[in-house]
Amino acid sequence: MNINGLKFGIIGGGIGGISAALALRQRGAQVVVFEQAAELTEVGAGLQISENGMVVLRALNVVGETPEAGLRSYGTVLRDYRAGRSISEIPAPAAGPTYYYHRADLLGLLHKAAYREGVEFQLGARVAQVCKHPSEAEIVLDDGTKTAVDCVIAADGGRSDIRADLNGPETAEFTHQVAWRATIPWARRDQKPRAVLTMGPGRHVVTYPLRDHTLMNVVAIEERSDWQDEGWRLRGDPEDLRARFSDFGGAVGEILKQAQEPHIWALFLRPVAERWQNGRVALLGDAAHPTLPFMAQGACLALEDAWVLARSFEDQSGISQALSAYETHRHRRAQRVVAAAGANARNFHLRGPMRLAAQAALMAVGPRFSRKYEWVYSYDATA
Ligand SMILES: Cc1cc2nc3c(=O)[nH]c(=O)nc-3n(C[C@H](O)[C@H](O)[C@H](O)COP(=O)(O)OP(=O)(O)OC[C@H]3O[C@@H](n4cnc5c(N)ncnc54)[C@H](O)[C@@H]3O)c2cc1C
Repeated sequence: MNINGLKFGIIGGGIGGISAALALRQRGAQVVVFEQAAELTEVGAGLQISENGMVVLRALNVVGETPEAGLRSYGTVLRDYRAGRSISEIPAPAAGPTYYYHRADLLGLLHKAAYREGVEFQLGARVAQVCKHPSEAEIVLDDGTKTAVDCVIAADGGRSDIRADLNGPETAEFTHQVAWRATIPWARRDQKPRAVLTMGPGRHVVTYPLRDHTLMNVVAIEERSDWQDEGWRLRGDPEDLRARFSDFGGAVGEILKQAQEPHIWALFLRPVAERWQNGRVALLGDAAHPTLPFMAQGACLALEDAWVLARSFEDQSGISQALSAYETHRHRRAQRVVAAAGANARNFHLRGPMRLAAQAALMAVGPRFSRKYEWVYSYDATA
C-alpha cells in the first residue's frame, strides 16, 4: 500500500521509535513522535552495533559507509578474572564489523536524520492511553490532549504500557543479576580496538573504548539478590563496585579502580510479547522483546524491526495486513536472539570445574567461536 500522507503516531523517542519514524517518513508517511522526556538527551553509556544493525542505519542514511562517531571493532578478547589471562580471541564477525557508539552520539545521529526528513517531535508528551476505533486510533496524553492517527507504533521500551494493553498484565521475573555501568576517561589509542569480556565465578565485566578512544565503557554484571531496583539512572557506590569485583586482576582491575560515578540497576526478564499488534497499534523494539544485554542485540533488533515494519506497508494492501506481516516476520527472529542472550548469562558466570572445562573448550574452539553467532550478524533486514 502507498503510505504517502498516512499519519503515524510513534510512542517513544528511543532508538526503536526514531528509526521507525525515519523508515516510515522516508516512504512518505506523516510521522509524529511522542516522547515523555522534556529533552532528547541520553545517559552516557556504550552500545555495540553489529552489522545487522549497521545495515539498517546505512539504509536509513543515518550513517555513511565509514560511519562517523562510531569506533570500528576488531573483535572480542575473552579473559579469566584473576590475572586477566587471555583465554581466547573472537575475531570480528564475517558479516561485517561491529561499531562502538556512545548512546548519546547514536541518538544524536538519529535525531538529526529525523529532523532533516521532517519527522515531528512532541517532547514532554507522555502518552496515557491509546484508543482504537474502526477507522483510526487516538493517542491521549497525560494532559488530556488527543491526536487522531491512522496507525500507532509503541516503541515505549521494556516497561511498555501499550504492551500490557495488548497482552494483559504480566509479571517481570528478577534474574538475580545486577548490572553496573560507568564510562571512564581514557587516553590510550589502540590501533585495533576490541571488546574485552572478563569472566569470573558469578560475575563478568565487559569493556570497550568509545569516542575516538577518549572514554572506556564498563559494564559489570554480578549474580546478586539484594538489589531489585530496575531504574537505570540510579547511582551506585564506586567503592562497593570495587569491593564486589576486588578479585578481578589485570587490566580490568585497573579500569575498575578509576570508576567514579557508576550506575546500578537490577536485570528483570519479560518474555517476547505473545501479541505484537491489534490491526492498528503495534509494538516495536524493547516493548515487543526486552532482551538481556548479554548479546548486545537489543538496539540492533529495534533497528531491524523498524525497517521490516516500514517495508511491510509496501508489500501489503492495508494497515492491519501490514502489521500482521510485520509481526509474523519478526516474532521468531526476536525470540531466537533473546534466547541466545539468556543462555550467555549462564555461560559467562560458570564456577569451579565447569568454568575450567568451558575455558579449555573456548581455547580449543578459539576463532571458530564467532561462527556460532553468524546467523545473528549476517541477517539483513533491508535485503
Ligand atoms: C547496559 C545495557 C547495555 C546494552 N548494550 C547494548 C548493545 O551493546 N547493543 C545493542 O544493540 N543493545 C544494547 N542494549 C539494549 C538497548 O539499549 C535497548 O534494546 C534499546 O535501547 C531499546 O530501544 P527502544 O527504543 O525499544 O526502547 P528505549 O530505548 O527504552 O526507549 C523508549 C522510549 O520511550 C519513552 N516512553 C516510555 N513510555 C512513554 C510514554 N508513555 N509516553 C511517551 N514516551 C514514553 C521513554 O522515555 C524512552 O525514550 C543494552 C542495554 C543495556 C541496559
